[in-house]
Amino acid sequence: MAKPNNFPDQRARMVERQLRRRGIDDERVLAAMAAVPREDFVPEQVRASAYNDSALPIGHEQTISQPWVVAAICQALQLDGDEKVLEIGTGSGYSAAVLGKLSRRVISIERVPELGESARRNLEELGTRDVEVIVGDGSRGYAEEAPYDAIAVHAATPEAPHSLLAELAQDGRLVVPIATGSADLLVAFIRENGVLRQETIGPCRFVPLIGAEGFNPPDQAE
Ligand code: SAH
Repeated sequence: MAKPNNFPDQRARMVERQLRRRGIDDERVLAAMAAVPREDFVPEQVRASAYNDSALPIGHEQTISQPWVVAAICQALQLDGDEKVLEIGTGSGYSAAVLGKLSRRVISIERVPELGESARRNLEELGTRDVEVIVGDGSRGYAEEAPYDAIAVHAATPEAPHSLLAELAQDGRLVVPIATGSADLLVAFIRENGVLRQETIGPCRFVPLIGAEGFNPPDQAE
């Protein structure tokens, strides 16, 4: 039997049981998920649960996404290692670290300054390079570095995110949860031969994207 908190064993089991058995078959994604220590991205009080098959609280009413969700987003982006990636919703920095292993460069935007700071620290402690965390409203995109070969959004948007789609490169892919009445629907937008097409990945639960092209902050909700 595994010792409590034997994180490498728990991580390997997570990859087999939560990911491979549930349809994640991109070997690069599986290797990245097997390499990034999720326990280093969660607060001390939930560290023992780092490999639970669920989202976990990271403070400021936000969560680190369920491992399968991170893997599904990465797989849908079909990264081959040479991309410039924009991520919206850094949270703990965990998904940014995974994306960092799969691409050339990651620019990740977080709305809550304290989370952006601690994500930066987590990524630095891990020795992650080529992942930059910026504090701000990512719902409008980040024109300074556009266009992007891939865009990952980790919070649910009210509709297809127009500014982000405008920053998507030719042959680029954008993966985003779109809020519908009941659940959120994870959708991939693919720009191919000048045409934008859309594929549905499946239902998921996300925190809301709050910002100019997202939802209103809770204290300003109508
Ligand atoms: N991917 C993260 C989890 C993200 S949870 C991880 O691996 O830990 C979604 C995050 O999106 C939250 O941290 C939330 O504060 C952030 N967020 C919400 N609206 C945003 C916006 N407009 N711009 C940037 N970040 C936003």
